[in-house]
Amino acid sequence: MVSKLPGSPEDPTWLAEVTYRFTFDAAHRPLPPDANAARLRLERGNRAFADLLDRVTLSKPARLSIDINPHDVGLLHGHSAAPKQQPFAAVVGCADARVPVELIFSEGPNDLFVVRAAGNGLGDDVMGSLSYAVDHLKDSLRTLVVLGHSRCGAVSAAVDVHLEPAKYMSMTQKDLRHIVDRTLVVVQLGATWLERVHGTEVIRRPGYRATLIEVAIVLNAALTAHGMRPGLNLVAGGDIDVVYGVYLLEERLVWAPRPEASDWFGLAPAPTDPKDFVVLCDLLASCERVQRLLDGP
Ligand SMILES: [Zn+2]
Repeated sequence: MVSKLPGSPEDPTWLAEVTYRFTFDAAHRPLPPDANAARLRLERGNRAFADLLDRVTLSKPARLSIDINPHDVGLLHGHSAAPKQQPFAAVVGCADARVPVELIFSEGPNDLFVVRAAGNGLGDDVMGSLSYAVDHLKDSLRTLVVLGHSRCGAVSAAVDVHLEPAKYMSMTQKDLRHIVDRTLVVVQLGATWLERVHGTEVIRRPGYRATLIEVAIVLNAALTAHGMRPGLNLVAGGDIDVVYGVYLLEERLVWAPRPEASDWFGLAPAPTDPKDFVVLCDLLASCERVQRLLDGP
């Protein structure tokens, strides 16, 4: 990836470069041994991507090199052959073009099993794809990830229906309505919690709509992650973990409120019972990001 912006004294044509380096030293990127190591690798990769773009200046281009095992694209010492599929994480992400999953985690071919659908919900095709991964890729698969993102259009549509129900009538495509229907529950939960923490007048704050969208995006990712274990017959504490996070388009970092964390960049464990949602809603509704959003642009 080369990002172009004119004006650099060193090179006027580019600002940042991401390079895939194919090396036969397979030890460069071994499979994570367990779910925790898989989560840490994803978090490190995301920070490396965000740091790369944070380092961009007009005077010096920034570079990030990602080592790839040539076997993962079928290169076997001069011969070509189909590689064995062995992703260490399955990621359910939104279809939004601004969230290229492998790139934002600094991963390459054969690292991630990616399923993308608008609003990152658990529709039949998404669940079927995950079932395949859990059943057939268990030798390498360590964790399942739900990845929402800020300013999600699917969640925004559900928030707009919540704020102005007449908009539902003009939504003629039933498949789009299906996504909105599924998302309304987290919008309602977010609205209830914002009123609980900030009072009923919160709906008159200048940034209320934008805030409700961002709160619902986090709750949507958390609820999707919560639904994975029963849907896939996974037990808590088993070999395959379930985590979630929200990719912030502005900061290029994955974010998830966690009571035990010093900052909230990274992935959070999937909620396992209603009490986890209460803790999450309290943290989210009163956090600094939400306070800032409520004040408006
Ligand atoms: Zn989206």
